[in-house]
Amino acid sequence: MKAMILNKITNLKKNRNPLELVDIPIPKLKENEILLKVSVCGVCHTELDEIEGRTPPPHFPIIPGHEVIGKVVEKGEKAKRFKIGERVGVAWIFSACGKCDFCLNGKENLCKDFIATGRDANGGYAEYMAVPEDFAYKIPEIFSDEEAAPLLCAGGVGYRSLKLTNLQNRQNLGLTGFGASGHLVLLLVKHKFLDSKIFVFARSKKEQEFALKLGAFWSGDTETECPGKLDAIIDTTPVWKPIVEAMKNLKPAGRLIINAIRKEEIDKEYLLKLNYAQHLWQEKEIKSVANVTRKDIEEFLKLAAEIPLQPEYQVYKLEEANIALLELKERKIRGAKVLKIEN
Ligand SMILES: [Zn+2]
Ligand SMILES: [Zn+2]
Repeated sequence: MKAMILNKITNLKKNRNPLELVDIPIPKLKENEILLKVSVCGVCHTELDEIEGRTPPPHFPIIPGHEVIGKVVEKGEKAKRFKIGERVGVAWIFSACGKCDFCLNGKENLCKDFIATGRDANGGYAEYMAVPEDFAYKIPEIFSDEEAAPLLCAGGVGYRSLKLTNLQNRQNLGLTGFGASGHLVLLLVKHKFLDSKIFVFARSKKEQEFALKLGAFWSGDTETECPGKLDAIIDTTPVWKPIVEAMKNLKPAGRLIINAIRKEEIDKEYLLKLNYAQHLWQEKEIKSVANVTRKDIEEFLKLAAEIPLQPEYQVYKLEEANIALLELKERKIRGAKVLKIEN
């Protein structure tokens, strides 16, 4: 099968082609696994963190990709959940131990044996992929494969972030950064919280305009003081400045959720501008979101189908994965990026 593989950690400024196109055998199944013929795989910012070593794969080569849509073409001996030909999705959670306190209490995202798709186990930048059947999801019919893929990470983790904000109707939400996850959260909030206003902070004019088009109440530059204080903020940027700048817009007891697996180091010194009185005092909180649970994904897919959410996306071929990744790195973003795998 064709696959785009990562052979080593690399610097994207120097190496414009981090992934290599190879022809490798189709994966062999364990008894609890299903084999998918992949049709679409989303491109996520976390792939950049894997490639550049902020969340490095434990072994190489690895096939990235954790927003996978495909059809079941083969089943392991004990796999019973899905039929051959059924369309399923795979997300960032490839597996968890199922036995620890976190797993038993609805927090499998925090399991110490959490295995991540496309980092610890081979993912969807390939023609075929194997996954434990318990970690695959039925995809609502209403979505095309291209629409469904970005829902699995950008949407699922965005949904978990929104849950962690504790936002209630009529409360104001800020979004700092407006890529794949930000735009899905905006659409979700507009559906769930009819009287809440959404404020979007983004660097580029294009992103700001896009936010208004999708129904943001206000959009502006990352540093701006927005008109009105916010009950919660979700940060989906890869850096630190937007967090420091956003905190001044939070109400007392407001909470900012960092929706990122890793932050980049490039502007870390900006944290020294954090002013305790202005940014943190008054019981303001900063909290991170870690990974995702199967429940998050299942709840989110159901909600997304009810709305129905229609993610904006751009399509690339599997062979163009490096181009899509570089554009993501250079923030040439409008909605989500997906690889369409022709086979
Ligand atoms: Zn992701
Ligand atoms: Zn566990």
